[in-house]
Amino acid sequence: MATPRVIGTTGRYRVVATTEGATMARPDYRKRKGGQYYAWHFCASCKNWPASDYDSRSTPGDPLCDKCQELERKGECT
Ligand SMILES: [Zn+2]
Repeated sequence: MATPRVIGTTGRYRVVATTEGATMARPDYRKRKGGQYYAWHFCASCKNWPASDYDSRSTPGDPLCDKCQELERKGECT
């Protein structure tokens, strides 16, 4: 299966084009490597958003970053 093409973002989700031509929202969660207790981030606007040397997954991890959740509540999660 081809890698879905990202065509935009909305909140914590990426809007992607699938091979069938449909779109779907795919969450992108990131956590700094090196510690199993590091929080998972989902807002690129979070000051702790890992830009390099991170693990990523498409489902929420535990724990979630408090700052990211606060940004989402305020509508500032990008
Ligand atoms: Zn965060």
